[in-house]
Amino acid sequence: MTGTPLSINADLHCHSLISDGVLTPSALAQRAHEGGVQLWSLTDHDELSGINEAREACRRLNLGFIPGVEISATWAKRTVHIVGLNIDPSHEVLKQGLASIRAGRVARARRIAERLESMGIEGSYEGALRYAANPQLLSRTHFARYILEQGYCSTMQEVFDQYLGEGRAGNVRVDWARLEDAVRWIVEAGGRAVIAHPGRYSYDAIQADAFFDAFKQLGGEGIEVVTGSHRPEQYQKYAEVARQYGFLASRGSDFHAPSESHIDLGSLPELAAGLKPVWHDWI
Ligand code: AMP
Ligand code: MN
Ligand code: MN
Ligand code: MN
Repeated sequence: MTGTPLSINADLHCHSLISDGVLTPSALAQRAHEGGVQLWSLTDHDELSGINEAREACRRLNLGFIPGVEISATWAKRTVHIVGLNIDPSHEVLKQGLASIRAGRVARARRIAERLESMGIEGSYEGALRYAANPQLLSRTHFARYILEQGYCSTMQEVFDQYLGEGRAGNVRVDWARLEDAVRWIVEAGGRAVIAHPGRYSYDAIQADAFFDAFKQLGGEGIEVVTGSHRPEQYQKYAEVARQYGFLASRGSDFHAPSESHIDLGSLPELAAGLKPVWHDWI
């Protein structure tokens, strides 16, 4: 790999069919390589079982690989996502922690299906399962694919706006991992904890500051600045947050599926000058 850390094409957030993406880990590695990615991480939700295949594919492609995960966590009664990068995927504490999160997903999926049924959408549990290669990891994304298939909505955004997003009946709340546990598992597994897509949380400015403070105190080190989940004006806002809190900056497409993701692997702009990339000492 050549270039300064900032100019390395790093894409450190995406999903395979092990969670709510649609491509295999190998197909993602291939796509990342073709998209010009030089340092890539697979970060499936609450699951590590795609990492061996991803690592092997990267070895064949001579593509830099960072083992990762995106942990569903709860802080102040809200869901936040914490990406763990450069973790040891065989670490028992992390593995057990993620298994405990997955265990809550099945009952939640049943409740999502009940809520959707009361809104006139039948058969969504079985329907969502058809889209889930890993039945332990039924997510709202799988329900969304079924709702689209059945013609209730015509875009993913519409599905979340009407049925599954914040404040909608299908957004069944559960207690995910506590923030302190999510960060601890990542750190104990030798990784770096990174706040995923901070622009997606509906915190006001005071809550956001409290969240960043709490995360830092717990040993969190990084924040996604340039992500497929942010609008370009948010790149600047979270670059400022990274500087203010001394966070390392991360970059990742959050790619899920060719037909769903508007940002492809490797196609995001570079981080702004002056930021310290989360990968600065990994290349
Ligand atoms: P879950 O972990 O089951 O709550 O599902 C969360 C997933 O839903 C996220 O990881 C995204 O992939 C997807 N998601 C959430 N909000 C939206 C949205 N507005 N549009 C498209 N996908 C979304
Ligand atoms: Mn997802
Ligand atoms: Mn996320
Ligand atoms: Mn994600």
